[in-house]
Amino acid sequence: MKKEKEVKEEASAKKPGLKTLLPYFGLLRPHWFPFVGALLCGVVYGVASGFGLPTMIDQVFPKIFPSQVGSKTALPVSELILYVSVFPGVFLIRGLSGYFNTYLINYCGIRVLEQIRISIFEKLQRLPLAFFYRNKEGDLLSRVTNDTGQLQNAILSISNDLIRQPVTFIGAISALVCMALQREGMAFVLLCLLVIPICIFPIRRVGEILMKKALGMQERAGGMTAVLSENLSAPREIRAFNLEERENKRFLESSRKYFDARMKVIKYANMLTPIIEIITATGIAVAIFQASRTSIHLDAVIPVIVALYLSYEPIKKLGGIQNQYKQALASLQRLEEVLDADESIRESEHPVELSKVRGELRFENLSFSYQGEEDDTFGKVSPALRNINLTVHSGEVVALVGPSGAGKTTLAGMLSRLNDPCEGAILLDGLDLRSVSLRDLRDAVALVPQKPFLFDATVRENIEMGKSPYTSSTVEEVAEASHSSDFIADFPDCFDQRLGENGNRLSGGQLQRLALARAFYRNSPLLVLDEATSALDSENEEKIHEAMTELSKGKTTLLIAHRFSSIRLATRIIVMDKGEVVADGSHEEVYGKCELYRKLYDRQQDSGA
Ligand code: ADP
Ligand code: MG
Repeated sequence: MKKEKEVKEEASAKKPGLKTLLPYFGLLRPHWFPFVGALLCGVVYGVASGFGLPTMIDQVFPKIFPSQVGSKTALPVSELILYVSVFPGVFLIRGLSGYFNTYLINYCGIRVLEQIRISIFEKLQRLPLAFFYRNKEGDLLSRVTNDTGQLQNAILSISNDLIRQPVTFIGAISALVCMALQREGMAFVLLCLLVIPICIFPIRRVGEILMKKALGMQERAGGMTAVLSENLSAPREIRAFNLEERENKRFLESSRKYFDARMKVIKYANMLTPIIEIITATGIAVAIFQASRTSIHLDAVIPVIVALYLSYEPIKKLGGIQNQYKQALASLQRLEEVLDADESIRESEHPVELSKVRGELRFENLSFSYQGEEDDTFGKVSPALRNINLTVHSGEVVALVGPSGAGKTTLAGMLSRLNDPCEGAILLDGLDLRSVSLRDLRDAVALVPQKPFLFDATVRENIEMGKSPYTSSTVEEVAEASHSSDFIADFPDCFDQRLGENGNRLSGGQLQRLALARAFYRNSPLLVLDEATSALDSENEEKIHEAMTELSKGKTTLLIAHRFSSIRLATRIIVMDKGEVVADGSHEEVYGKCELYRKLYDRQQDSGA
């Protein structure tokens, strides 16, 4: 947990700036061709608007209306047409280059974003379970959808203006300088450009505020999605416990908070344009004032005003870009919290490949706490597993027994490295699990979890997901062994029946039988069944028992069950309590020496379970 906090603090302490974006420019490499094309089009656009328009007004108009020079002779028609067509010509160039600039740069921007979204998703597959305990599902959902969306909007609008506006600006300034140099008494127009540096101050200040507000807004969006996703995952409880009002209130509150946060962003984001417009209008007013006092003709002033306007406009736009950029940084920061999260369970640098698994397990001084070993709260919260020392021989069938909360599920999950030990180690055939190739290790374990999950796919696909290098039976055979065939045959599409999200079209017992079928199909040398038959009626459990006896032959098996009828298979019983092993031996031995076991066992015999 501490690690995660650190990551967050580091990320926010990092001064956001162009440097944050640099690594992402690397993603443009595969798209350099459209990117260079976009750059060129942007330059053409900028020159056509910034320099082309004022120059055209300045140079071409006097040719068409030569009255000012004094000669009343009209131009020949062909020449007139030539001059007049300069007009649509400039706009044609400006329009075409503007269009292709936008198109190509959007292409690059969306491509880069797609890359970021995919890497986040891939990263989520590698993160340890602990990460998902700490972060709300809805907030993660919001990061992958909202924050990438925000980033996309920003990338698009930024990239639309990023090349055009500076080039337009430089073009317009050059036009102004040319005009100022060509005529006398025009140097003052350059003075009007002095207002531009003044605009920098509000741009910077608003940007700083906006970054903070945008971060707040995205967090609120995450909060709102979190409420929604929790709500959608529990429709049954909400109805059964009359929680509708409570849920409505919760959603209303988070939605209000989002509204407030969003309005703050809107407040600051829209402040910049009017501020800059007022400053620049003042600049233009000064130019007009000066022009009227130095008796310069109107037709000389108009191109100057146009050029001035064209040089102020990019400043205004760049202010908008800055706004978008800050909001994008805020989203990027939230995405980077995921992208940079610690992959605590990762492949060792030189992973050992498992060729033949004998299945001998050794737990050496194993301790584990969900709070992590470095956390300050360690000590206050008792660890889930404490000082476990066990050896399970190859092919042994062991039952883990104990009250709920004893740490059975935690211990079983550690075989697939769902969590790593805080202290001590687990050895498989003498190899520390952390040194073994993750893929090979997970292939070697068939786990039926306490709450199995089926995907929204067909029955066949769900069973086939269990495939491992050890698989030797067909889907039909394992369905038969897990006594699923009968109810599968009742489905309209049999094995091609889709199961709905999380198999929600199945009963608890059917779900468990399909989860067992998946484990049977997997056929791995280590078998872990965590309350795998708890939802079955005694008749079905009895039937599956035979299949399990068959399946566990030659496999190291960990059986976790509350019902003693389901652990008859086991030749050895390990009793756990409060994270510790309190007894270990055959049923008779343990029954003789462990009071906890005796109590648990006798109570079930009395109730006839
Ligand atoms: P069992 O399977 O024996 O019922 P578990 O292994 O599920 O027990 O839980 C052992 C202890 O660890 C319990 O005290 C439980 O509250 C705690 N625990 C289980 N899962 C988590 C988790 N994701 N985060 C924090 N604590 C957990
Ligand atoms: Mg459990």
